[in-house]
Amino acid sequence: MIQEIAPQVYHLEYQVKEPAAAGKVFCFREGCVLLTRERRVPLRAQLGDCPIRYRYLFAIDREEYYLGEPLGPVQVPGLEWMPRRVLRGLEPLSQAFAGYTARHLEHWYRDNRFCGRCGGPMEPGMEERKLVCAACGFQVYPRINPAVIVAVHDGDRLLMTRYARRPIPWFVLLAGFIEVGETAEQCVAREVREEVGIQVKHIRYYGSQPWGMSGNLTLAYTAELDGGDRLTVDRTELAEARWFFRDQVPIRKEDRVSITQDMVRAFAAGRF
Ligand SMILES: [Zn+2]
Repeated sequence: MIQEIAPQVYHLEYQVKEPAAAGKVFCFREGCVLLTRERRVPLRAQLGDCPIRYRYLFAIDREEYYLGEPLGPVQVPGLEWMPRRVLRGLEPLSQAFAGYTARHLEHWYRDNRFCGRCGGPMEPGMEERKLVCAACGFQVYPRINPAVIVAVHDGDRLLMTRYARRPIPWFVLLAGFIEVGETAEQCVAREVREEVGIQVKHIRYYGSQPWGMSGNLTLAYTAELDGGDRLTVDRTELAEARWFFRDQVPIRKEDRVSITQDMVRAFAAGRF
C-alpha cells in the first residue's frame, strides 16, 4: 500500500526552515505537479530563482521534502507540469507516498489563506503544523476527512461496485464519508444500506490508510451479509453492484497502492 515504504521511514515532525540545494520540492498548479522528464521530484537547486515560496513538509529517511508555492510563472528547462495522477506511479513507492502527502498539505495551505472567523490573513505556526490568524488568534490544524471502505462478503462471495459518475471504470468496494455524530461502524452499515439495500453484521476493523490525493484517512472494514443478498443499487452513486466468487474477484495487478486492492487480494487468498 502507498504508506508501506519500509525500510524507509516517514518523519512528520514539524519544522520551519528553507530548503537546502538537495531538498526535494513539490510544486502544484491547477491539477498538475512539476516533475523532471524522468518523473523525479525536482531539487531546490533546479528551481534556481523561480518565484516560489517554500514550506518544509516532512522527511523520508534523511531526505527533506518541501512545498513550493508558485508566486508567478514557473518554467524551468527539463521540468514539466504533469497531471497529478502521475504521482501514483512514481518510483520508488516512497515517492508516490511523498507526492500524495504533499498534495494533501498543499490543498490545506491553499484553502486556508484567510481566517474563517474574521477574514484576516493566516500565518504558519512556529512550533507545530497549524495556521494562526494574526488578527484574532483563531487556529486551524490540517484537515483530514475520515472515510470508511467496506469489504462485504457472504463467506463465498465479495460484493464489489462500479461508480456511476466518477472516472474509475473498474470494480471497487463500497465507501463513504463519516457523518457528524456517527461512529465508523454505523457509517459502514449506513453506506451499505443506502447504496445496495442490504444489511450487514460482524463489522470488523481491517486497517487504515492515509489517502492524501483526496485528503482522507480511510478506515477499512470487513462485514458479513446479514439476511437476503438481493441488491437494490442506488443509481445516483453506482453504475453496478455485483457478487464475485473468491476465485473470480477482479484483481488489478497494476494497483500496488490502495487498501481496496489489499482487501480484494486478502479475500481472494482466503484471509477473511
Ligand atoms: Zn481571525
